[in-house]
Amino acid sequence: MSKEEIRKVQLEMFRRQIKHAYDNVPFYRKKFDDAGIKPGDIKTLEDVAKVPFTVKDDLRDHYPYGIIAVPIEQVNRMHASSGTTGIPTVVTYTKKDLDTWSNLMARCYSCAGVEPKDIVQNAYGYGLFTGGLGFHMGAERLGTMIIPTATGNTKRQIRMMKDMKSTVLCCTPSYALYLIEALKEENVDPSELSIRIGMFGAEPWSDETRKHIEKSLHIRAQDLYGMSELYGPGVAVECPEQNGLHIWADEFLVETIDPDTGEVLLPGEKGEIVFTMLSREAMPLLRYRTKDLAVINWEKCACGRSHPRIMRIKGRSDDMLIVGGVNVFPSQIEDILVGIEELGEQFQIILETTKLDNLHVQVEVSPHFWGKVDLKELAGKVSTRLQESLTLRARIELLEPGTIPRTQGKAKRVIDNRKKI
Ligand code: ADP
Ligand code: ZN
Repeated sequence: MSKEEIRKVQLEMFRRQIKHAYDNVPFYRKKFDDAGIKPGDIKTLEDVAKVPFTVKDDLRDHYPYGIIAVPIEQVNRMHASSGTTGIPTVVTYTKKDLDTWSNLMARCYSCAGVEPKDIVQNAYGYGLFTGGLGFHMGAERLGTMIIPTATGNTKRQIRMMKDMKSTVLCCTPSYALYLIEALKEENVDPSELSIRIGMFGAEPWSDETRKHIEKSLHIRAQDLYGMSELYGPGVAVECPEQNGLHIWADEFLVETIDPDTGEVLLPGEKGEIVFTMLSREAMPLLRYRTKDLAVINWEKCACGRSHPRIMRIKGRSDDMLIVGGVNVFPSQIEDILVGIEELGEQFQIILETTKLDNLHVQVEVSPHFWGKVDLKELAGKVSTRLQESLTLRARIELLEPGTIPRTQGKAKRVIDNRKKI
């Protein structure tokens, strides 16, 4: 389909979805009434900008069941996001929604190069988190064999990989980094394994980290994006070109906005990504603000797909650190650290309150270099690189390999001690 054909389908679906939301969810009806619009007012895709945004707090304010558009008997499943701060965000699915989600995830696998003959080892967490079951259902739908190892028990994870000859590994990039170390400890040479593709997502990771994972595990490492509110994983995925993540445009209408003014930006301009789910029954989401910052690219991809692409997510608007007046994302610091050969992959950014905001970066030295380099000199080099590229002044602390706590799920890169005071 051409972009124009896709846009036509999206408009039809959008109009149906906004009516579904207006007719069945008092929250949306009130929101539209307050804004003085009716579903019938949306006649073109430009009119979409008239529809009010939905934000995470709207879901929290209507905890637990407030945004449901179907009778509760028709809800087949719920998930909830980790809810590290306060009320969890509950998401609900009808049978049809689960079916759509499975298809989207199956498409993601296939787009990334996974085939029905593959053996998929799924090390994402099963439970309220959408990762485990999302990757599980998609693999079942595609018809692969699936090994639901879930997170944890790394020794068993490695054993399964070896004995079952798993060919696809699904987990967070942080866990993939941890597995690389664990394989070394267990004296397993990655070339003994059969893994050929990694499906890594749920958190930002840099191209340098990708290179490291690909080289260490002898695999192709594919990026996949999603969030609980948008079914879970399966919103967008890389094709083997690894040049942006294809967003499934027959399910997600994507816009980029200026996070401060809410103004719609042109494709190619960096901003906050906003999604509308085009067929969700149980919990319609209209113009949902993700807080993720990226660029959308509508140019046809070399793979032939015309689904638009999110050029890699670099961070979230709420992740941005302001240190001594400089705006910086943890991923920018990561890019620089990973590019320094003598350093390992594990780092932490600690923010302290002093007279000026003080940035403290702890980073492990690579095991190959530990004991062989002059630490003071290396710290000086790291500090200079951060200063040159990001104009950041940081206190660098080099640590012995293995010191920073490893994670099975998403990494916690930033420790902000400023708020506690
Ligand atoms: P929670 O962590 O609150 O349970 P989710 O698991 O739904 O919520 O996390 C969704 C968020 O994870 C996204 O908004 C985005 O910030 C991040 N994320 C998911 N996939 C990727 C990816 N491939 N690259 C970068 N960030 C990602
Ligand atoms: Zn492509």
